[in-house]
Amino acid sequence: MNRHLYVGPIIQTNEFGKLLIKESATILVEDGTIMEIEETPDLSSLPNSSITILKPDQFFIPGFIDCHIHAVQLPNIGTGYDKDLLDWLNTYTFPLERKFSDEKYADKVFDTVVKRTLSVGTTTACYFASLYGNSSTILAQKASQYRQRAFIGKINMDRTRDDNYYENTEESLNNTVKFINSVQDLNDPLVKPIITPRFALSCTMEMMKELAEIAIDHNLNIQTHVSENQSEIQVCKEMFPDCPTYTDVYETAELLTHKTLLAHGVHLEDSELELLKKRRTAIIHCPSSNTCLKSGLCDIQRIRSYGIKVGLGTDVAGGQSVCMLDAMRSAIQVSNHIAMLKKQPYKPINYIDAFHLATIGGAKALDIFDVTGELSPGKHFDALIIDVSTPNGPLDNLGDYTLEEKFQRFIHSGDDRNIVEAYVFGHKVK
Ligand SMILES: [Zn+2]
Repeated sequence: MNRHLYVGPIIQTNEFGKLLIKESATILVEDGTIMEIEETPDLSSLPNSSITILKPDQFFIPGFIDCHIHAVQLPNIGTGYDKDLLDWLNTYTFPLERKFSDEKYADKVFDTVVKRTLSVGTTTACYFASLYGNSSTILAQKASQYRQRAFIGKINMDRTRDDNYYENTEESLNNTVKFINSVQDLNDPLVKPIITPRFALSCTMEMMKELAEIAIDHNLNIQTHVSENQSEIQVCKEMFPDCPTYTDVYETAELLTHKTLLAHGVHLEDSELELLKKRRTAIIHCPSSNTCLKSGLCDIQRIRSYGIKVGLGTDVAGGQSVCMLDAMRSAIQVSNHIAMLKKQPYKPINYIDAFHLATIGGAKALDIFDVTGELSPGKHFDALIIDVSTPNGPLDNLGDYTLEEKFQRFIHSGDDRNIVEAYVFGHKVK
């Protein structure tokens, strides 16, 4: 058995979003699982090589959970934000994604994606991989190799396109089952397939219904997009005239489960929120992308007021950064902008709320809160060591800061240089 003690402060939120600070704690980890957390360290039982003691200005936080990221789009990050969603997809995104029929290219990009996301503290990632099953399997292999907790989605698109970037329905379903088997063959508890119809606009109802059945048969999560942009919603209503709302398309396909994640949800109607609450389906807030592609200001306080689960996503490459710190800051800024535009009093989210979304919010959205999202006994040790005074870091520590202020400065003004170590299921990944 592998036992290790980690000694230092812990900062995290509880289930209800309250900030919890333990100034001094000892975390006992056995084979990747947290066995106990004590206030006073008893270091006598283990050799020095099995004990990690944090330095001043360092503290533990739970690892970040990116609930929405397109692995194939990393090469386009930072480009094309002069367009709106549908234009951006056609001009920049689809041409890039077609290149992933080349498995060598997929290997090169996905190797970088997993290393990069781990280096910025993303211990769990929920990926849109590729239309192509074999390339999508390569992403699963990379996550397993570098020990990232990951959900990998082979994308389904069965609407005919001039550029041939689609599969026919039967092909798409067969390749999905093949893909699921190939990921399950890795036999890695950290890496799971996720059912991934791209969005209503690129899928037939027939295929979506079949995918819903595959998800139930294999007990899998489901992810897609909803209500991101006004033109997209318009097209959706024209394509599915029998469905009164965008969300109703997925309801009709039986894709809304307690393990389903819908990215964006910027312009949802009240009836859609009622439906999502009923189905216990999560919304993934993607504020950077919503701003870069001018999709809209998503009011997550409104969504949360319905009791709907909300996670956070970078939505690379619609979003401008792979780092969840960027997503948290964008979430705070968007919320502040909404507050400024409101006539009546409105409470924007703060850094604690944003951090909660990036940890426990994501774990609940993915239905993995039993194993990760917080540092507590029984959960896996998915943790980051933060150092606010790391040499060459972005923070000049010119004042006397409380531990909470150090944490606040990291969330608002730190970067990945302040993430000095990262662990997934007890394995050091940075
Ligand atoms: Zn997306």
